[in-house]
Amino acid sequence: MKKHRAVFLDRDGTINEEVGYLEDLAKLKIIPAAFEAVRLINDAKMKAVVITNQAGVARGLFSEDFVKTANNFLHAEFLKESALIDAFYYCPHHPTEGIGSYRRECDCRKPAAGMLLQAAREMDIDLTQSYIIGDRYNDMEAGKKAGVKCVLVKTGFGQSVLQDDGPDQLTAYNQPDFIAEDILEAVRWILKENK
Ligand SMILES: [Mg+2]
Ligand SMILES: [Zn+2]
Repeated sequence: MKKHRAVFLDRDGTINEEVGYLEDLAKLKIIPAAFEAVRLINDAKMKAVVITNQAGVARGLFSEDFVKTANNFLHAEFLKESALIDAFYYCPHHPTEGIGSYRRECDCRKPAAGMLLQAAREMDIDLTQSYIIGDRYNDMEAGKKAGVKCVLVKTGFGQSVLQDDGPDQLTAYNQPDFIAEDILEAVRWILKENK
């Protein structure tokens, strides 16, 4: 029996504003509601785990070190607001674009479930009692494959994917369990489900 429940959080478009490839900390703008959302996850004794595709690494737009720097920056900014992000997982790969060993088919790039499965192993997470929040159908599909419940937020690409002109399309495999205005409404829905 796994010990912990988790809320997996997409990064760009969900906890910080979607700005295309984020290659400069000056472009990193945290969505204000995210602080309270993470505090609520902490209070509920669930793990807050960021799960992010960072194909900009494969594309040579920024380094893997920069991804770590940005994640460390987010971790510190959330701590200042008494909110703990328990862990960060990222995929630096791209299947067809980019440089060197980063260009490959992998099992971590969403919509694959690899990052969720790895976190579940390493952090003793019960996926059947866990959730993912993201702004793209890719996030939902990764969640479905891992067996967690899925909440789509309208921030980031969320509004445009719902209007069918976003970067990915609704299929039978990526339907959200709930659609929320933002990460805070998403977490409130999760906590209501878990009362
Ligand atoms: Mg996103
Ligand atoms: Zn990968």
